[in-house]
Amino acid sequence: MRRKLVIGNWKMNGSLAANSVLLRGIVEGYAAKNADCAVCVPAPYLAQCQAELQGTPVAWGAQDVSAYAAGAYTGETAASMLQDFGCRYVICGHSERRAYHHESNELVAQKALAALNAGLTPIVCVGETLEQREAGRTNVVVCAQLQAVLDVLENPALEKIVLAYEPVWAIGTGKTATPAMAQEVHALLRKQVGERNPAAAATVPILYGGSMKPENAKDLLGQPDIDGGLIGGAALKAKDFLAIVDAGN
Ligand code: PGA
Repeated sequence: MRRKLVIGNWKMNGSLAANSVLLRGIVEGYAAKNADCAVCVPAPYLAQCQAELQGTPVAWGAQDVSAYAAGAYTGETAASMLQDFGCRYVICGHSERRAYHHESNELVAQKALAALNAGLTPIVCVGETLEQREAGRTNVVVCAQLQAVLDVLENPALEKIVLAYEPVWAIGTGKTATPAMAQEVHALLRKQVGERNPAAAATVPILYGGSMKPENAKDLLGQPDIDGGLIGGAALKAKDFLAIVDAGN
């Protein structure tokens, strides 16, 4: 039985003052039952998360990590630095990074590896664009994105990742994949992991992301292969975020 996992992806939103209100609201309202929860925040606010969330059941993480361990990479953040600030998670290969920063499948895989090497849990995102879906290429695209990760991770490491299926056309658009559409892709991803490592297929959480909100969370989280959510817009209000966490309980 996989525990549900709901993770907020704040993207480039927040301020010290606003974060404080949001984090307190989450901590006060979170009832740890069957669903774990975490927030992935902009890097400058990791110290704030560490100060406010340490000792609570709410975990925190970052939204990107360098594929390199240290050195002359201006602007990058090493996995060891995220570890210094108590991160448990880091998002790797979000579609916004793939689109605006030209991150390739191979680079995303290297980032996941760097995260694992520092003891972090990478949340590896995959997903197709609308054009790719309409061309009938969804399965080919997501399987190639996952395969690049399978190519670099040894079996024990594979058991430590989190996957997220985020159809690009559903992110921030209000259009959600139907539970059946999402389930189909989640099952496909789990099968692909299982062909390499059956133990990992049984335990790796596969989150859905893309306009998940309190109104649709229960149906999505009720699917057999949807183990949680990666939440953007609805993670910026404690009430909405907690309602999604509750839908996983
Ligand atoms: P959304 O974003 O919930 O605002 O659609 C999800 C994500 O990009 O992770």
